[in-house]
Amino acid sequence: PKNPSLKANETRILVFVRVRPLAKKETEAGSRCCVRVVDRRDVFLTEFASEKDYLRLKRLRGRHFAFDASFPDSASQQEVYSTTTSELVEAVLQGRNGSVFCYGATGAGKTYTMLGTVESPGVMVLAIKDLFSKIRMRSCDGNHVVHLSYLEVYNETVRDLLSPGRPLILREDKQATCFTIQIKYIENEFVGLDISYLCHPVNCSINSPDSNLSLKILTGIIAAGLTQYRAYSTDEVMILLQQGNKNRTTEPTRANETSSRSHAILQVVVEYQVKDAAMNIINKIGKLSLIDLAGSERALATDQRTVRSLEGANINRSLLALSSCINALVEGKKHIPYRNSKLTQLLKDSLGGTCNTVMIANISPSNLSFGETQNTLHWADRAK
Ligand code: ADP
Ligand code: MG
Repeated sequence: PKNPSLKANETRILVFVRVRPLAKKETEAGSRCCVRVVDRRDVFLTEFASEKDYLRLKRLRGRHFAFDASFPDSASQQEVYSTTTSELVEAVLQGRNGSVFCYGATGAGKTYTMLGTVESPGVMVLAIKDLFSKIRMRSCDGNHVVHLSYLEVYNETVRDLLSPGRPLILREDKQATCFTIQIKYIENEFVGLDISYLCHPVNCSINSPDSNLSLKILTGIIAAGLTQYRAYSTDEVMILLQQGNKNRTTEPTRANETSSRSHAILQVVVEYQVKDAAMNIINKIGKLSLIDLAGSERALATDQRTVRSLEGANINRSLLALSSCINALVEGKKHIPYRNSKLTQLLKDSLGGTCNTVMIANISPSNLSFGETQNTLHWADRAK
């Protein structure tokens, strides 16, 4: 399969689809597979068997979709990671932000894709593993600092999954840098402006070594008191994340099951220093957000006409707000409504703009989930 490449300053959202294997329970209930992936790209919603039939379906609306890549149930965790997320890890090491979302109905495979199991770790764990190995391979290593935070948005309340307790308050933070402007001179001649977009709390500084002036402009949103776990190696991470996942809110009626309305967000922040041509030390920060979204089954209507009526019916506000932001980004709108939910406020610095955004839509192959699957594919299609 082709590996779609991200170019600097491109805001396009890459959209992928992953089909999970048919579960034993589904087979026993007599359900059949109604999803086919062809050439790691096309997805057909059909129970027909032959290729010729698929091709005929290309003309049927709502039955054929094409994405940046599509993964059949045989795709490995490593393949999913490499195709969807590895370039974002590379970008974080260039000081750029990015985010990867898993979207889909409850039971479609979001948590498996993001977290995975000890035997088959998912995107979150593989990304951190890859990050550490890329840092080790860099000649100028030694000054990279990696921090992890893992949080939940449930019912518009933000909680720390690494240190559960009272809800966290989101506030505009005066210490969070949005960008650095560097005015460059060579032998007193103005040669240009260097503006880099940063998105994580660092100290304000105005320094003027020799003739270069660098000024950091401060604003941003942080979750006050959030644990910043300093990570040194991959080994500890899986345990940490599994523990964090156990701290996700459970539905009152099903005490052992994670609520389908809970969003889990892992944020990986890498800080490091580089020297520019004039040998000035520049602080760089990149942030990768990996998000296991709430189940999409309650938020079917991204259709503008029905949004308002559904909001009253306790529909997941953060999921709706995310859809609105993504649609606004894809349509190239100037105003992106980040303020409408906790999830979109938290991800404001990692979604759109110069950030790399990746969407993985998870679907079940079972004909019993046909409606959900079709909704998810339509949603993903609109995010392209
Ligand atoms: P969600 O988080 O979307 O509700 P899960 O990730 O919990 O769904 O997946 C539902 C079930 O299907 C779990 O038992 C999970 O282990 C299994 N599963 C999901 N995707 C895969 C896959 N690609 N390969 C094997 N098992 C999977
Ligand atoms: Mg889940």
